[in-house]
Amino acid sequence: MLNITNPANGSVIAELPEDAHESVVAKYRAARTAQPAWAATTLEHRLACIRRFREGIVRDLDKLAAILTSEVGKPIRQSRNELNGLLGRLDFFLNETAAALAPRQVFDDAGLREVIEHEPLGVIANISAWNYPYFVGSNVFVPALLAGNAVLYKPSEYATLTGLEIGRLLHAGGVPQEAFQVLVGGGHVGIELLKEPVDGVFFTGSYATGKRIAEAVAGRMIKLQLELGGKDPTYVCDDVDVAAAASSLADGAMYNTGQSCCSVERIYVHEKIHDAFVDAFVREAKSFKVGEPTAEDSYIGPLTRAQQVKVLQMQVADAVAKGAQLLAGGKPIDWPGGHWFEPTVLVNVNHDMLVMREESFGPIIGIQKVADDDEAVRLMNDTDYGLTAGVYAKNEARAKTILAQVHAGSVYWNCCDRVSPRLPWSGVKHSGVGLTLSTYGIETFTRPKAWHLRAP
Ligand code: NAD
Repeated sequence: MLNITNPANGSVIAELPEDAHESVVAKYRAARTAQPAWAATTLEHRLACIRRFREGIVRDLDKLAAILTSEVGKPIRQSRNELNGLLGRLDFFLNETAAALAPRQVFDDAGLREVIEHEPLGVIANISAWNYPYFVGSNVFVPALLAGNAVLYKPSEYATLTGLEIGRLLHAGGVPQEAFQVLVGGGHVGIELLKEPVDGVFFTGSYATGKRIAEAVAGRMIKLQLELGGKDPTYVCDDVDVAAAASSLADGAMYNTGQSCCSVERIYVHEKIHDAFVDAFVREAKSFKVGEPTAEDSYIGPLTRAQQVKVLQMQVADAVAKGAQLLAGGKPIDWPGGHWFEPTVLVNVNHDMLVMREESFGPIIGIQKVADDDEAVRLMNDTDYGLTAGVYAKNEARAKTILAQVHAGSVYWNCCDRVSPRLPWSGVKHSGVGLTLSTYGIETFTRPKAWHLRAP
């Protein structure tokens, strides 16, 4: 049995039967059998299913937000924000899939035509994370289903009730039970799923697990996409509106209690404005309302995973031992049954410290002073990760010169912690391989087949 607990107070909110070897095999076989018939439906039919799924999200939005908040601890307004944001993503896929997957004639001369058609991959495994389950899940299963794939979806064990709701709404929308199946359980269920001969693996989660998954499927010659963690840096130049930059970056670091793959995790500030920026940032961080995630005015909630409290404690202790100064927070919050951590700001940090090297995934930030743009670029690139990076500057040319030198999948000028369905979402280095979103993120669920057609 899988116990679903509320991270705010430790209470058990559900007990669910977990999948095991036999049920995973049965679900895989059913998906394999069902996939050709699903792929043979018209794209119009599949779009109509996703449109009805969207209607279900709109209709049940408050209930879905409450479930998400209860199992993940996301403050309720942020849960509603995620669901409202999902609608825009669904609209993107609903509007763009037909054009993205239309056959393309790329050559026509003297009776010889060349055409690209998009075939579905087949049965795909979607192993997902808990921090934005609607976003990271839908980036995969929506375009995958629209392209005619069957999907075996394993939500995180920390977002299982949400995963089951997603299944309920897709089936109510008309997606056949066998073409989209939810697998319940933790990492061992993911391991079982990967033993089945799926045609593609689409994973969102940590680098450590991503590496294990890559090793598990190596040699199988199937499509593998890994959307992994980050240690996302931002550089604040000397010509910015300090208060505005501090407010935007405090939100980018602490929103979702700092548990976003593209949370701001490191800040470098030009020495000319460093002290003013730090003052403004600390004021912002101290103003964030920590409270019950069900309360409308809560901004910081509990950490979803109990073990992350220790990770954050270790990062703070390590930084302070090496000379960092703690300006806000720094310790767990005493909260009966729950796992909570204070919004935390460290300065005088450097790259010998864990807080500037390892993903924190919590409401904690290190702010480092730099002398110039070159030093900022060097430090931003001094990481194993490469998901996003940002620059706050008045001058666009200066920001672009800096960002062009930073190795990251997404770069931001005067914004942060942002994902757009219209743009490809990808990481470099330990942040992953492959991409979702944009029209590339629709095509990625297909095999482009090359047709060489010579008329007799
Ligand atoms: P995780 O790696 O612990 O787990 C992710 C999923 O993998 C879960 O469903 C888990 O049950 C499963 N799993 C665990 N071990 C497995 C194994 N050996 N084989 C198969 N499946 C296994 O990650 P998490 O805690 O759920 O998510 C947080 C991480 O995800 C952070 O590092 C975050 O940055 C990253 N993330 C990345 C993106 C992105 O778009 N790049 C988005 C969201 C989260």
